[in-house]
Amino acid sequence: VEQYIHNIKEKAELNAFLEIFEEEALAQANAVDQKLANGTAGKLAGMVIGIKDVLAYKGHSLQASSQILDGYKSLYTASAVQRLLQEDAIIVGRQNCDEFAMGASNENSAFGNVLNADDHSRVPGGSSGGSAVAVQADLCLASIGSDTGGSVRQPASFCGVVGFKPTYSRISRYGLIAYASSFDQIGLITKSVEDAALLLEVMAGADGMDSTASQREVPAYSELLQTNKKYKIGYIRDCFESEGLETEVKDAILGVKDMLRDAGHEVEAVEFPYLDYIVPTYYILTTAEASSNLGRFDGVKYGFRSDSVTDLTSLYKKTRAEGFGKEVQRRIMLGTFVLSADYYDAYYTKAQKVRRLIKEKTDELLEAYDFLILPTAPTTAFKIGENTTNPLAMYLADIFTVQASLAGVPAISIPVGRDANGLSIGLQLMTRSFEETALLAFSNDIL
Ligand code: GLN
Repeated sequence: VEQYIHNIKEKAELNAFLEIFEEEALAQANAVDQKLANGTAGKLAGMVIGIKDVLAYKGHSLQASSQILDGYKSLYTASAVQRLLQEDAIIVGRQNCDEFAMGASNENSAFGNVLNADDHSRVPGGSSGGSAVAVQADLCLASIGSDTGGSVRQPASFCGVVGFKPTYSRISRYGLIAYASSFDQIGLITKSVEDAALLLEVMAGADGMDSTASQREVPAYSELLQTNKKYKIGYIRDCFESEGLETEVKDAILGVKDMLRDAGHEVEAVEFPYLDYIVPTYYILTTAEASSNLGRFDGVKYGFRSDSVTDLTSLYKKTRAEGFGKEVQRRIMLGTFVLSADYYDAYYTKAQKVRRLIKEKTDELLEAYDFLILPTAPTTAFKIGENTTNPLAMYLADIFTVQASLAGVPAISIPVGRDANGLSIGLQLMTRSFEETALLAFSNDIL
């Protein structure tokens, strides 16, 4: 714990942590020491973990990297975090992210950019950018992030670490600040697949506090990582033909595909005809859900309140105008628009239908193939500022990650190479819902 805290302070310029829980983490470490000595320590004894600033931890500040939650402290602990603590993990601090988890570069935080530790002029990806850099730069052993449309997988890809989003509903969302509830998922950023498996095993499972959490049994993922099966793998051809895909990323992922074939797996090209629709569908639905979810931040109940208010309406307006950043405001407006009476059917209803088609096609492919492989992101880590004036370009950074989010299936990003600038390239694998065991075992094999 001391070493990690030292690293966080020494590499403060990365801006990965918003807060270190120093005294508490050291006290937890002492308590775990005792438990280790008397043989009562839990499964995660000594694992030093950072949490993205969207996860509630009782008595600690919680801000979703937003001004609007300034001064707010959690009244309870997220179920996933509680389960980590029960197994004696040590929570070392709270990590920077895009405001309300909206972004793909960590440039939307009220607390400033996070720097990619491989190249400080580049973004770490987002929205769990602080969480990815924390693992990349050895500021903690593992991070708990959230993934609505790629927010653990894409930063993991940019930072050369493992990013894993389980099946929708596998981990309780109780205590996770809502962005788009039908997509939101707690996810993991780790150095190894073993760590991801162990953490999933602890955090997953039914929860009386979240009725959408799956009741299914939780396998002992970490004990099921051995596999010598030969799999049927589909690579999504349309992705490799997409315009914005960098050649080096393409070549690296196609190289893995060939390697898998050489290793005796059956590898075939598959068609996914909806690639052009996934980003628009994702942004219509997530902004709609966000506009509703973020309605609660009104200056009355949480955190920040504008001090220049004159009446109730101005309290709402001024608090929200001053408290929310630009990107969050943009999304609330977009979401409000697509839900408005005149446009609801044209946008929201239609996007729901397209989501259904995307899910059905994805499930159909996953009936025929054990895994689908594709790049995690079309590019390696881009320069800070490169996409900030063009939201559409930024949204396209999600083109390969949102399919799994729209379909609710599990997906992982593992580092498989580097480009000529030394920047990491991530391979993404998807599988059928609740087949995390095979996904983790196979990813472990590749890594
Ligand atoms: N970049 C995507 C977005 O901005 C994904 C974010 C996320 O997964 N939280 O919506």
